Amino acid sequence: MIGMGTDVERTDGKMPNNADDDLRSLEEAYSDLREETQQLINERTSLEAEMRTLRKKIERLEENVNLLKMPPLIVGHIQDILDHERAIVRSSNGTVFQVSLNQRLDPDKLKPGTRVALNQDSLSVVELLHEAWDPMVSGAEMVEKPTITYADVAGLDEQVESVREAIELPLVKPELFEKVGIVPPKGVLLVGPPGCGKTLLAKAVANHTEATFIRMVGSELAQKYIGEGGRMVRELFSLAKEKAPSVIFLDEIDAIGAKRLDGSTSGDREVQRTLMQLLAELDGFDALQDVKIIAATNRPDILDDALLRPGRFDRVIEIPIPDDASRKAILSVHLSNMNTKKINIGRIVDRTKGYSGAELKATCVEAGMIAIRDERSSVSSQDMMDAISRLDKKRAQGTSVRSPEALYS
Ligand code: ATP
Repeated sequence: MIGMGTDVERTDGKMPNNADDDLRSLEEAYSDLREETQQLINERTSLEAEMRTLRKKIERLEENVNLLKMPPLIVGHIQDILDHERAIVRSSNGTVFQVSLNQRLDPDKLKPGTRVALNQDSLSVVELLHEAWDPMVSGAEMVEKPTITYADVAGLDEQVESVREAIELPLVKPELFEKVGIVPPKGVLLVGPPGCGKTLLAKAVANHTEATFIRMVGSELAQKYIGEGGRMVRELFSLAKEKAPSVIFLDEIDAIGAKRLDGSTSGDREVQRTLMQLLAELDGFDALQDVKIIAATNRPDILDDALLRPGRFDRVIEIPIPDDASRKAILSVHLSNMNTKKINIGRIVDRTKGYSGAELKATCVEAGMIAIRDERSSVSSQDMMDAISRLDKKRAQGTSVRSPEALYS
């Protein structure tokens, strides 16, 4: 065939060129199509991967929704075991019931005195509980003396001053207030976006006052067990009094301190009971006692006004997204611990408008990782710029970087 073709090309001056052109354009079209096919295959693979991730996300969200829909459980103590299916239980409000036992529970652990959770409708025992609320188990973080100092809190000079005045001074020199005859605030409320230094500031105060730092997250107090949230608040304050001088840092206070609404679900009512207990604890201790409370929230707009009444959190301190000068100060703090080479900090400050303190720290950590990957021992301006590009991508995807670790999650 090729030989024949060549003969034809030799006898006819026009045809051979046309055939060549056709062949070439066919080959080009074929290679274009092949490229397009490959591209479509790649696209399909990445879409399939994305679909898998989204499916997993849906599953997780559905689980969360189911958890949220679950009515709260009632806490009680077993008084007597009648047989392997029935027991006598005293609930947390004092009522005694004869209830059925869930057959999945270990019968050896079901003894008189055991703390159990009861289904609100059927009152059957569905879960065994820890004997007492252990702050370490329930999400409270207790640090005898934090190592953070005011020097670690950058770009928040005014806020540091306000917190020192409201928390540190009454703890360190209560006599000043007694002499003048004024009552210091019991606590302060720090409001501002995530990762801007609220926890850091609270830790620094605890360090400077030699106080124990007890951190509790509001969502941990929003319990599914009836009466448990209030009990945890009570125990949190009694732990703080026992460990005094102490600073309670109540993060995400909005989880239990949101405005009270009518027609709420039983879960909401439980959260409200926890808030009432918190208000009672706040009112119940003396402002001159050596327990101080610092609360923090990203959502001051939804807080119940009751929390902001005089004698409670009557001092609100705003911790904003850092401006140019604050970003420079925060970057300087974090870069000061690193081995750097001719860093142009002004350029980095310009490129990180809108970054939180946590994101600035994450930028420094990421730049350090880039240097390590390149087997270098110091971080350059270019590493910082590359790290910023990576952070920008994360931010564009809507992933908030609350801590440097979040970069790697
Ligand atoms: P959240 O609302 O998420 O609890 P937060 O405001 O309490 O956030 P922090 O936990 O204090 O934020 O900040 C996270 C990390 O970001 C800190 O451990 C610190 O490394 C860095 N950081 C944040 N703000 C500052 C700052 N002003 N100076 C120095 N480092 C900061």
